[in-house]
Amino acid sequence: MNRLSATNLAAHHHLNCDLYLHNVYHRRGTPSEAKEPSPLQEAAFERGLDWEACLLPFLDEQDLLLTIPSNPIDADALSANLEADDRDHFFVAGLTFWPPEQLKQKFGAAIPVNFGLAKPDLVEITRTPHGITWKVVDAKASKAVKTSHHVQIYFYSLCLSYLLPQPFFQPAGSAAIWLPPKDGFDADSIPSLDDLKSINLSLLAPSLDDFLFRRLPQILAREHDSVDWHLNPLCRSCPFKSDCEQRTVENGELGSIPNISLAQVRILRTLLGISRGITGLRPDHTDIEDLHLLLNDTSRLRRVGTSFPSTLKKAKRLLAVQPASPLSPLVEAARTKAIQLIPRRNFTCPQREDIAVVISLLVDPSSSKREIAAFCISVFSIIPSFQPDPCHGPDALFIPALSDILRRILDLNTTVKPAPLTQFYVFSTTEHAALQAHLIDRALTSMPPASENLRLCIGALAQGASLLQTTFQPLLLSGTLLDFMTKGRRSKHELQTCLERMDLPTDGTVEELRQRIQDEILRLQAEGGRGNNGADDRRTELGQLARVVALKNVIESLLALPIPGSWDLTECAFLLLPSSSPDRKCPTDEDVFDTYRNNGSLEVLEDRLEQRNATIYAVLQNMRARISATGTRLLVNDARILTANFMDLCHEDHLRKLFFMQQFEVLAKLTELWKARIEGCPDAPVLEYKATVQGKKGLEHVFYLVSGGIDSPGGDSAFYNYILCEDGTRSGQLPVEALYDDLSVSGLLFPLNKYTRAKWNTQNPIVQQNLLVADLRDVAVDGQRTKVVLQTWGGLGICLAPGRYYRFSPRLVDFNLTKVLSTLLELDMRFSASEDGYLDVPFLQLILEPRSFGEDPDFAERGKELVKVENTIQSMFRELRDLAGREHVAGALVLKPSQHRAVQRILSSRLSVLWGPPGTGKTYTIALALLRLLEVQHRLGEKKRKIIFITAMTHAAIEAVLNKLSHLKTCYRSIESLPVDWLDHTQIEHVLKGNDHPAPSKSDPSASLIYAGTVYQLYNFTKRHSFEVDMCIIDEAGQLALSSAALVLRSLSSSGRIVVAGDSEQLAPILTAQYPQLKSRLLFGSILDCLMHLSKLPSPSRKESQPPLSPTLSDYSGMSSSQGTIVQLTENFRLNPDLGEFVSTIYSRAFKPQKVQAKQLAKQLKSIEQDVGRDLGVDPQVLLDVQNFLLALSNVMLRKPQTVLRPPPITLKQNAPLEMQDMLTPTPISLALVRLETDSSQPEGVGYEAHVRGEAALAAALITCIRRCSPGEDIFVATPHRIQRQTVKAALQQNDLVREMEALALDESSRGKVTVDTVERLQGSEAGFVICLFSLPPSAASDLGFLLERRRLNVAISRAKTLCILVASPAVLRPHVSVLADEGNAKGYTFLRAFEDRAWSATIRVDVDNF
Ligand code: SF4
Repeated sequence: MNRLSATNLAAHHHLNCDLYLHNVYHRRGTPSEAKEPSPLQEAAFERGLDWEACLLPFLDEQDLLLTIPSNPIDADALSANLEADDRDHFFVAGLTFWPPEQLKQKFGAAIPVNFGLAKPDLVEITRTPHGITWKVVDAKASKAVKTSHHVQIYFYSLCLSYLLPQPFFQPAGSAAIWLPPKDGFDADSIPSLDDLKSINLSLLAPSLDDFLFRRLPQILAREHDSVDWHLNPLCRSCPFKSDCEQRTVENGELGSIPNISLAQVRILRTLLGISRGITGLRPDHTDIEDLHLLLNDTSRLRRVGTSFPSTLKKAKRLLAVQPASPLSPLVEAARTKAIQLIPRRNFTCPQREDIAVVISLLVDPSSSKREIAAFCISVFSIIPSFQPDPCHGPDALFIPALSDILRRILDLNTTVKPAPLTQFYVFSTTEHAALQAHLIDRALTSMPPASENLRLCIGALAQGASLLQTTFQPLLLSGTLLDFMTKGRRSKHELQTCLERMDLPTDGTVEELRQRIQDEILRLQAEGGRGNNGADDRRTELGQLARVVALKNVIESLLALPIPGSWDLTECAFLLLPSSSPDRKCPTDEDVFDTYRNNGSLEVLEDRLEQRNATIYAVLQNMRARISATGTRLLVNDARILTANFMDLCHEDHLRKLFFMQQFEVLAKLTELWKARIEGCPDAPVLEYKATVQGKKGLEHVFYLVSGGIDSPGGDSAFYNYILCEDGTRSGQLPVEALYDDLSVSGLLFPLNKYTRAKWNTQNPIVQQNLLVADLRDVAVDGQRTKVVLQTWGGLGICLAPGRYYRFSPRLVDFNLTKVLSTLLELDMRFSASEDGYLDVPFLQLILEPRSFGEDPDFAERGKELVKVENTIQSMFRELRDLAGREHVAGALVLKPSQHRAVQRILSSRLSVLWGPPGTGKTYTIALALLRLLEVQHRLGEKKRKIIFITAMTHAAIEAVLNKLSHLKTCYRSIESLPVDWLDHTQIEHVLKGNDHPAPSKSDPSASLIYAGTVYQLYNFTKRHSFEVDMCIIDEAGQLALSSAALVLRSLSSSGRIVVAGDSEQLAPILTAQYPQLKSRLLFGSILDCLMHLSKLPSPSRKESQPPLSPTLSDYSGMSSSQGTIVQLTENFRLNPDLGEFVSTIYSRAFKPQKVQAKQLAKQLKSIEQDVGRDLGVDPQVLLDVQNFLLALSNVMLRKPQTVLRPPPITLKQNAPLEMQDMLTPTPISLALVRLETDSSQPEGVGYEAHVRGEAALAAALITCIRRCSPGEDIFVATPHRIQRQTVKAALQQNDLVREMEALALDESSRGKVTVDTVERLQGSEAGFVICLFSLPPSAASDLGFLLERRRLNVAISRAKTLCILVASPAVLRPHVSVLADEGNAKGYTFLRAFEDRAWSATIRVDVDNF
């Protein structure tokens, strides 16, 4: 009988090929390689077995294992076995069973598919008072969960749900993959239950049920010839590869062109479809022939290009069609079966070098360790005196071996004239990525002795590293030295420490030492960012030569090889090299891996790697020879003289790592930009110029978007963060963008002025002539097109012409890099010069010894007195409130229990961390805590002048604290007979421009000076007026990177106090590069995450026998709310019980809700009835649907019948804690969901912009209705993307909402505010109604990862005080199963589904053709 196993289903999801399933099921094709899995496949398989072999004894030792003989077992026997085992918790191994017959019913009218034996690795059994709960667990020895794993565990769970009879046997509702520890495993590893990656099966069900019971029978029922397939790089692991290769070549399929992915083949098929639509289908023509004919037919091409310009452009790029010739070398190679040259210039690979260093890295793909299994470095040198032997070794020897070679080459630079040109090569991009990851990992995890070798390797191999050094080092050093010299009198020891760091002599008198530093400052200032290489040198390095060339990419860009599917080094060498060449026979990657894996001798492994390197070099030379034989000069650069500079200015290990990380962030961003620019920014949006008009701030250029997408500008600031070049010019030349030097102007304000303009003059003349730096002023949907408004600067030679196309791409803008780097360096120098070590550097003490910081005995002792006084103040306000009634202003000054604990912690400790879910009053608590502290200190006679900083990342967060402070001050003052003289001495200032802000006044010796500003403005402020700060309060600390926190903590006095408040489930700092998880210190996230993490590490005083607390950040369940440094706020003031209960699904502790559903909400919504049928300036159909939706909500609240809304599967009563359930009259509803389905009659369906217009129309209708029925309430519209914000605003303008409000006769002060903004900018604020626009059309589903970020969803939804309406579309609510393999996506989707499960919902259809 034909059958499919769960493994087949999983393989199908990996290969994404219907033919694979069809072949397996119908036993078609010859699985020629099936009998012999490749060594890599074998290794992966064996590794899985090793992992299982590690797990089973572990479970057995823990008495958690029940092994069943692996014969197929029936349902009764299985049930009996499980019932017979009386343990409360165990795992079943060895289970094998036939899928149940009941599965067949799920196929409905389709022909049922037969499935083979199911063999889940483990089933977890938990005994409950009522029976047994079970859960499928598969052990997978991979680095991360994959879609194929989810397919398997879902299938097994489905089968078992029929086999194990309910209700005694209950499915857990989830299944799990048991992954090895992140740092790998071996025979001695102890597995951890924490590594079980669970997924809720209800998340997988929609996508997988559709596949299993609808699509699968359709695929299997098709004729073999009509099944979808395409030979592509993934096919290397498929047993049917040989047959498909043969069929591909015979039929002239698109897979005859190598390395065409499944996504790319769709573009080519679309092009062929369009072309055949014009000329008619010729059955005798193959795809390759048709492409050849199309590209040769100018008139047909023109017709295709006129109607489908974007498809043609993408296809031409894929087929490497060059402007000079219509032919595609790739199509010609596939057609003629001969190698073709691709006549395009290459700027990354040199045409010659004196020394080629070729590196082979063997990475074990099945290992979860980020390690190099083995390496070989071979040097091919034309210098007779420099012929080093290849060197080899395992991971630990790589940096020493490479740095040794680098030192020898650097020596040659001084001894050989002219200095030799050196270039590094690897073969594949995988090796290149492994090399970069290895350097970053070592830099951030190694101990200091390794740093010299590392600095050399990073300086030589990291793209842009030396550029960063020459640009920033002189600036940093001169600035820091200047600071050092101007801050008081320096001791001789301090001056010597400073000179030692600069590698300058340390002998002489104090005056001589001082003079030597002054001279160095002058020298560095003169160098001022130009570096030793000079401006010309900088320009030629940019975006051109790769520090490490990945040769495979270069060959792909210059030679079209007639190899179907894909090729590797062996196949490439066999095709390119002459039969006489000894390097033609290169070991395959499989051979090399086999030798390593199966313990072949070390010598054989080394020989094979050396042979591989020799082949790489021979292939490189052969490629060069083929190019020069044609007389063209496609490789335009020579290699360069080796330099190995990388800034490593900090000595203290943690500061050094933060300093490295800050640089890696810049390098990662630059690498991303350079990669795109060298190709001419192929994915950059293209704009068509229309006209230039006079705008508010000068001339503005109006364009229309031709292709790509642009989000609206982020705010009013003009960062000029884009560059603009004419598209399609300079064919065969280096794209202008690739000549642009980001770093030299990354921190300058545009338009440049007479002082900064000199920097622009160091740009390449071509850049100065042909590139505009652009500021995005506006993006607006204009009819069927998107209008883009820009202001520009530069581009002397550009004359914008109507109808011409321009490429619009990002540039690096970074005003803060120098600030952070110089702060870290300054702290490091302070640390070196200090005799008390880190005690003199509070920032360092915070990350090195947070416990000592948090448990300072002086603060604890003094705190007792402060707390006593504070208690009397709290009691006084409580009594006052109780006497005068709850509405009395004193109520605002009474802290809730957890807030009171937090305030007392702040009073009695140097470090306090306030952690609280949304709505728990973090900002209120820190504001009142500050005032209480000042009052208590005043009462106790501590009247010395104090400076206090309040900071956060955003202006919105700063304003929120300032508003709270102002409100609380007013409350204090409004209570008669309260002593407020301490308030008279309290001065609060908003630091908007740190550089211009006046210095702290010294006129009042008992003043408390509070300065609130972003970290950057407070940094500028303290740089301008040097002073120390007594207390730093950081709000929204989950957004502030630890390194950025240094900008304000640098000013904290050595006995200063720190308060950090935030929520680690809200938006976090964005990092570009990938960093290793450091076990001991979490340096690379937010300051909040760092402190939360450190607090969970075992205390030195903790007893050995106690298990260590889990370092998992997402789980704080082990912490008591009053424990130590961290205080959790638990009372919720914003969220209603049902909204609070939903948000609690991601927090371990339940909320204590303080408010219930506003009773008038139901009545307010009911008043919408009066508006039905009225013209409110909104699309009538959308308006009617929205009115019905809101009226239905009102009916539910009033417990009346309605037919519009679907009730939630989970109601609050089922889930809520007992104390919440008393509050359920009338039915409270805070969660509502609109399923937005957009339709269009256009053949290409609904595009992103059209969908956004439809979504905006819906939002406008919702806002209009809510404002009319509840005019005094604030409304937030939270949009993940700025273009959504812009479109909603445009839709509201059309409605003329202001006129509507005036018609309601409301004066401005009593009108609620409507705020439409991105989620990031709404963090920290709240509104009565929140409308979250989280919808996408299917065509934009690739953007789902952004939308499904749980922190973003959490911030958006939890802004609501009364009602949250989430607008989502089927593409978001029912994503493809592959989206859920990403852990972050799965978390976000779980949260979204939790909302859906608790929300009353309705579907609203919008025809986007109407907008
Ligand atoms: S070789 Fe590729 S195209 Fe052929 S069946 Fe396998 S996965 Fe599909």
